[in-house]
Amino acid sequence: MKFLISDERATEKLGREIAALLPKKCLIFLNGPLGAGKTTLVRGILRAAGHQGSTKSPTYTLVEPYQLEDCLFYHFDLYRLGDPEELEYIGIRDYLDEQAVCLVEWPEKGLGFIPQADLTIELDYEGESRSITLDVKSSELALKLAEKLT
Ligand code: ADP
Ligand code: MG
Repeated sequence: MKFLISDERATEKLGREIAALLPKKCLIFLNGPLGAGKTTLVRGILRAAGHQGSTKSPTYTLVEPYQLEDCLFYHFDLYRLGDPEELEYIGIRDYLDEQAVCLVEWPEKGLGFIPQADLTIELDYEGESRSITLDVKSSELALKLAEKLT
């Protein structure tokens, strides 16, 4: 599924729509260059789940937890990760094993230490706008997304 999104607000809105369909435990990758809108989309997802504060990219801390009303979220930003092995030290497995929605920016930096994602979101520049492509592993989630988003 591919969308053309003209501004930040529309990206956030897509995030809110995606949020409504997510299982309480899943792994989501956000791919795309700096400034493509990965954190903006995460903000939309978190706001839909009840988060009211800001959403900053956890570039230096690698991960930011959000315990919301009835769902736990972990927002990872692996941009500064030097070696994928460092993920072992922060206990990546424990995070991923939890009943939580794990959102990962720059997942390619953790190659080999993170399993396959349930949903991969690809963001890119497209003129003044952004293109957002969803790639879903489970056919159940794919159906739900197709129904809601098209
Ligand atoms: P990333 O996390 O991918 O590095 P951010 O979400 O932090 O990107 O920042 C995206 C920037 O691009 C913001 O400054 C935002 O205002 C701008 N922007 C312009 N158009 C869009 C769009 N369609 N979606 C998201 N952000 C957009
Ligand atoms: Mg970011």
